[in-house]
Amino acid sequence: MALTDIRKNDEVQVIAGKDRGKRGRVVNVLPQKNRVMVEGIARATRHTRPSKNNQQGGLVLQEQFIDLSNVLVVCRHCGKPTRIGHRTADGVKGRICRHCEGDL
Ligand SMILES: [Zn+2]
Repeated sequence: MALTDIRKNDEVQVIAGKDRGKRGRVVNVLPQKNRVMVEGIARATRHTRPSKNNQQGGLVLQEQFIDLSNVLVVCRHCGKPTRIGHRTADGVKGRICRHCEGDL
């Protein structure tokens, strides 16, 4: 799978780990490391120091990066989680759903 297949704001379904089956929106991608951060997925508590934005510091719930291979993009046409297929039309490379072949 090409590194840039999953993009920010894609809806994805988790297929492995303790959040398996959950869906969320991609909020961050690290293409070089094959990792994504998904809203509401893989949250863990972190200790933080007091800062400007968080004057008390303490424990915050923060999403962790997870491996790209643990998620599938949810097709907005058929609603199924899918691996990303590709189609080149008029010289433009597009992403398609493997189930319904709709554009992703
Ligand atoms: Zn589809």
